[in-house]
Amino acid sequence: MLELRPNCELCDRDLPPDSPDARICSYECTYCADCVETVLHDVCPTCGGNFAPRPIRPTKSWRAGKSLGLGFHPATTPRTHSPFTLEDIQAHTARIRDIAPKDR
Ligand SMILES: [Zn+2]
Ligand SMILES: [Zn+2]
Repeated sequence: MLELRPNCELCDRDLPPDSPDARICSYECTYCADCVETVLHDVCPTCGGNFAPRPIRPTKSWRAGKSLGLGFHPATTPRTHSPFTLEDIQAHTARIRDIAPKDR
């Protein structure tokens, strides 16, 4: 199950489960759309993969008998912060950003 992390790992802005601005890589590293566009250039600082909009989990269970939705599977609470310096991230993204995600 996808972890709904509470903040952007870079700028630390809040990204609640219903935020349309949350972006994730395939490992669920979570950033805001602004950081992905202007700083990361669609390169995850950790794995080097690209990003997709984080799906918004429904608040309730829409199927009888199914334990689904935020009420059963809430967002996680530990805030995550990138261990990399901005300088390091910029060098990392510069190396990778021009390679198509499918070729990374
Ligand atoms: Zn951010
Ligand atoms: Zn990643």
